[in-house]
Amino acid sequence: MGKKLRIAIQSKGRLSEKSLDIIEKCGIDFANDPRVLKEEAYNFPLEFLFVRDDDIPGYVDSGIADIGIVGRNEFDEKQIPLKVIRDLGFAKCRLSVAVPNSFNYTSLKDLEGLRIATSYPNILDKVLKENGVKASYVNVSGSVEVTPFIGVADAICDLVSTGTTLKMNGLKEVEPIYNSSAIMIMNSEIDSERKAILDRLLLRIDSVIKAKDYKYVMFNLPEEHIRAAAQIVGGMKSPTVTKLFDSDWVSVQTVVAEDIFWSVFEQLKDLGAEGILVTSIEKMTE
Ligand code: ATP
Ligand code: ZN
Repeated sequence: MGKKLRIAIQSKGRLSEKSLDIIEKCGIDFANDPRVLKEEAYNFPLEFLFVRDDDIPGYVDSGIADIGIVGRNEFDEKQIPLKVIRDLGFAKCRLSVAVPNSFNYTSLKDLEGLRIATSYPNILDKVLKENGVKASYVNVSGSVEVTPFIGVADAICDLVSTGTTLKMNGLKEVEPIYNSSAIMIMNSEIDSERKAILDRLLLRIDSVIKAKDYKYVMFNLPEEHIRAAAQIVGGMKSPTVTKLFDSDWVSVQTVVAEDIFWSVFEQLKDLGAEGILVTSIEKMTE
């Protein structure tokens, strides 16, 4: 039997579902039984190891897993020198300094000499050092937001995505210091057989990631405006243009980047486009 590539994924938490999602979109099937620790894919030489996210960098470093999906925050905090092979773009969040509402905050300098509770002392320390601030850290692994109110800390530094948790706890976010998203890391010593499997996997992952950034757009347009429309949509290659039967209108099909989609949409409407149809793309290669 051939070798398998082993991937470490968070067993339960904010990364789990989306990590498995991306693998699934790569056409890889597995049972996804939440009770098991280890599992094999049916149709691809991939083996899953479901663990706590904090353990993922260590497992990849020691070779227990060949690759892993983990938050960049967790990875940077661990300070293990591993290769980051992809930014997967999900689980976006930021590490921010937050203080009680009554705290009159103006800059990081206000933290001088204070006690800051965080699960990320290494990342925080690096930022404070860069800003010439000396503070002490209270290393807590959870419920960071209660520490100012039980006399344990003066400020906190914690992960934020919307800020609701902070507000509910009488805190205000005053300084985002670090951005994170899910990344894929790899052991630097995987053998050539596993490396070949990884390359196959990455090819699929890239097409899944890329597809997310684009929309497939179809619309009808008076033929005379086709050059102007092609200018607007730009895109990968020239759009496909089909003549509509018995009329001077054409049907146009093209791919548009998500981040410029709305501006393209408005310009097309101004140009007289009708029946604009937008669909998501499942997979996409160059
Ligand atoms: P575990 O039990 O595996 O140790 P955990 O409680 O440490 O889990 P989660 O809360 O599931 O971790 O978060 C995992 C990762 O998801 C974080 O390290 C971060 O990268 C990302 N994350 C955390 N909070 C958010 C958020 N509010 N929005 C989006 N992503 C987040
Ligand atoms: Zn964790």
